[in-house]
Amino acid sequence: MRKRRRLMFGTAGLPASAKGQGAVAGIDAIADLGLDAMEIEFVRGVWMSEDLAVQVKRRARARKIYLTAHAPYWLNLNSPDAAVVRASIQRIMKSAAVADRAGARHLAFHAAFYCGDSPARAFGKIKRRLRRLAARVVAKGFKISLSPELMGRPSQFGSLEEILGLSSEIEGVTPCIDFSHNHARTGEWNTYEEYCELLDLVRGVLGSGALRRMHIHVAGIDYGPKGERRHLNLKESDMDYRALLTALKHRGAGGIVICESPNIEVDATLLKKTYSRIR
Ligand SMILES: [Zn+2]
Repeated sequence: MRKRRRLMFGTAGLPASAKGQGAVAGIDAIADLGLDAMEIEFVRGVWMSEDLAVQVKRRARARKIYLTAHAPYWLNLNSPDAAVVRASIQRIMKSAAVADRAGARHLAFHAAFYCGDSPARAFGKIKRRLRRLAARVVAKGFKISLSPELMGRPSQFGSLEEILGLSSEIEGVTPCIDFSHNHARTGEWNTYEEYCELLDLVRGVLGSGALRRMHIHVAGIDYGPKGERRHLNLKESDMDYRALLTALKHRGAGGIVICESPNIEVDATLLKKTYSRIR
């Protein structure tokens, strides 16, 4: 029999039920809900002080909560404007420094836009910049991996192939596989067979270790011809989360599943409960 891996479930940001504003209260709420993980959201800026990061790490350890982080939205590693690229690199470095101090092990980020480039040309430029960035993260001794996210609109850099490509070619880069974005971007990839195919692709490109240490985003999603429109609660959307969870279990995937539905912990709990009942 295939060995079972553990998937951990958590929320993007603080659960709504957190008693208090801060990340420490968020960690307590996650533990009280019976969840396993939380993504620290720096999406509007890196707001966490170094002192707070130390407290967060301590509390997460004490309550056995696994942390990831999300860098600011305002990034474009493929901007024609060198100042924008420099600022993007600085934002990712700052996020990585604070998140690493807080004990987070993956930093999700929205890498870039095509800005009129062909996908191949954009990939080459982004790869060179990300490689230098990843080398700086390693040189600083941070243990966090940089996780370019699979993006929900075809106008955004970050198809499945692109993020797997960056991850296979750059040391210290691992994919943040947003299954809902992938579905919204393509209109496909939402059946058990397709989810199995996707996981087989991850293993084929990155090896079985990558399948054991996945960084996953899931939410209900509304989409159209231009891809993602907005996040929804799972039961209001066509996301076949049961098929996804079944494929993850049958393929022996492990790692962290971060739920980005508007009802955050409700769907995170739904995902965890559904997963636990799948044989
Ligand atoms: Zn994201």
